[in-house]
Amino acid sequence: MHPDVKKILFSEEDIRNRCREMGREISEAYRDNQHDLLFVGILKGSIPFFAELIKHVDIDVYYDFIAASSYDGTESSGDIKIIKDLDCSVVDRDIILVEDIIDTGLTLKEIKSLLYHKGAHDVKIAALLNKQERRVNDIQADYLGFEIPNEFVIGFGLDFNQKYRNLPYVGVLKDELY
Ligand code: 5GP
Repeated sequence: MHPDVKKILFSEEDIRNRCREMGREISEAYRDNQHDLLFVGILKGSIPFFAELIKHVDIDVYYDFIAASSYDGTESSGDIKIIKDLDCSVVDRDIILVEDIIDTGLTLKEIKSLLYHKGAHDVKIAALLNKQERRVNDIQADYLGFEIPNEFVIGFGLDFNQKYRNLPYVGVLKDELY
C-alpha cells in the first residue's frame, strides 16, 4: 500500500469484479439496440474505470473522450467550459457517459444536457463511485460501482493535486496530507 494512504476502500479485485457485473448489465441492456452505442469518458479521472469497464462489455461499441473544467476554478459551480470536445458526432447515438465519481452532480448535469443539445438519442451515466449526500440536483448513475460516504477519496483515476491517479485501488489519504 502507498505510504500516504490511510485505508483502502475498494481493492483492485473489488473494482474488477464490480466492473464485470456492470459490463454484463450494459451488454444485456444494449444487445439488440437499434442505435450505435458510444462510451464517452470524462477526462482525466475516468480513464482507469473506463478501461476496466469496457473490457467487460461484449457488444460492439464506439468510444471517445471529453474534458471539462469550471470557469471559476472551484469544482462545484456548475459553470463549466469544454476544454476537449468529442472527436465524433453524437447525433442519433446512444451514449454512456463514464465518470469516476458523482459528487454534487453539476458536471454531469451540464455534460448530459450538452450531449442532448448536440443531438444524442439517449444519454445514460456509468460512475464508479457515488456520494449521494452531496448531490444538489436530480442526476443519478444508471450504472453504479459503489456508494460511498462523504469522504475525499483518491486512486483508480482520482487525484489529490494531480497525484495518486495511478493507484490500482480507491482509498483515503492520511489526515496530515490534507
Ligand atoms: P461534481 O460535479 O459531481 O461535483 O464533481 C465531480 C468531480 O469532482 C469528479 O469528477 C472529481 O474530479 C471531483 N471529486 C469529487 N469528489 C471527489 C473525491 O472524493 N476525490 C477526488 N479525488 N475527486 C473528487
